[in-house]
Parts: sequence; structure tokens; C-alpha cells
Amino acid sequence: MIFHVLTLFPELFSDFQRESIIGRAIEEKKAEIDLIQIRDFGLGKHRQVDDTPYGGGDGMLMRCEPLFEAFDSIEKTRKRGNEEKMKKIRRVYLTPQGRKFTQRTAERFVHYDEIVLLCGRYEGVDQRVRDELIDEEISIGDYVLTGGELPAMVVMDSVIRLLPGVLGKEGSHQFDSFSKEFGGKREYPHYTKPAEFQGLKVPDVLLSGNHAEIEKWRRGKLR
Ligand code: SAM
Repeated sequence: MIFHVLTLFPELFSDFQRESIIGRAIEEKKAEIDLIQIRDFGLGKHRQVDDTPYGGGDGMLMRCEPLFEAFDSIEKTRKRGNEEKMKKIRRVYLTPQGRKFTQRTAERFVHYDEIVLLCGRYEGVDQRVRDELIDEEISIGDYVLTGGELPAMVVMDSVIRLLPGVLGKEGSHQFDSFSKEFGGKREYPHYTKPAEFQGLKVPDVLLSGNHAEIEKWRRGKLR
């Protein structure tokens, strides 16, 4: 699966794409992150990407031309790579105005071959970009961040871990919070050694070795 990330700050993704489960998934070519510097498509010798809003008001907006060109560059590479069969692609703009991102969204995104993630900055992007180039707008929550890079990482992390073979034990995400297996509920409490710490004991049932009882206890603790 390929993520094409359009951003003014590609360096923010350095550690994200190198470390831990995501780093391994990329190394094993289960996922690919294609970072596209929007400024490369900026205007003039200063590579301008933003401007003041028509009608006045505070802040700057990301201009159309660099973004249309950046999207076009993705299409050109795709056509070269997949002349016979164009793959399933979803173009997403990350914005607090979008639909709330949930585990269900991540499960839906797994079925695409390619996902474009447009990271806004300033006051966001010119509406014509949203009208013409974007399939779906996603918010990671009801708060405003300075840019779409953290939301892009949230989306990629939650989708990549659902890809086949990415988690150590195949399919172990099936028993995570919000999974169908848990009826969309949150997971039960976990304990590890020692069995007693500063007078705090692990529930007896978990030490009993009775798997039917343990399963019953855990199901009862789903929230
Ligand atoms: N003026 C915009 C508004 O009021 O909706 C906020 C712009 S915000 C300062 C800059 C960029 O950060 C946005 O274009 C978006 O890409 C990203 N962003 C901020 N908060 C976000 C959130 N909760 N979910 C997804 N993206 C977000």
C-alpha cells in the first residue's frame, strides 16, 4: 500500500517512517510512504505556496496552483507505473472540518492500494482544491492543530498496522479495542508479572489457568 503525503514539512516524518512496527512494515515493503514537498511546485523563485484570502481576514491560505501540480505529479507517476491497471486510490484532505476518523475509517482505508494525504498549513487550502481534487475530508478530533502532518501520521499508523502480516502475530488487531470481535467496545484490563506489587494483586481468575473463566471475565470487562 502506498501513501502519497503532500506536505510542507516532510522531515517531520523521518522518525515515524523509520521506527518500530511502521519502520519494519516499510522495510518489508508492506507499506510505502511517498513524501511530496509541496514547495517544489511553488510559484516563482521564492517557491511561493500561500497567499492572503479574498474577502479579507486573518492568516494565509495555500494556493491552488502548487497543489494542482503536486496532485498531477502523483497521477503521472501512477500512470507510468500501472499502465494496464490503475489501482484503487483515495484522495484525502486532513481538516478539523472533516468527518471524524475512527477505527471503522481505518478498516475501510485498508482496501485502497494508494491513499493521498494532503496536509494543510496556515488557515488551510483554497476551496477549489477541496472541490476538485479531494474524495474525502477527515478530522482526527475536535481541536485545531498547526498542520495536517500529525493527523497524516495518525491515519497511516492506524491503517498500516491493519495490513496483513504487519503485526507480529497475524490478525492480532482483531482483538483490539473497537474491533468487531469486541462488538466495537474497548478492551479489558491487562496485567503482567509480578502477581503482587506493593500490595496490588492481579485478579485471581487470571492466575487460575481456567481459560473458560478467564475468557468470561475478560468479556465482562469490555467497555
Ligand atoms: N482554519 C482551519 C479551520 O478553522 O478549520 C484550521 C487550519 S489548521 C491551523 C491548519 C491545518 O492543520 C489544516 O488545514 C489541516 O490540514 C490541519 N489540521 C488541524 N487540525 C486538524 C484536525 N483536527 N484534523 C485533521 N487535520 C487538522
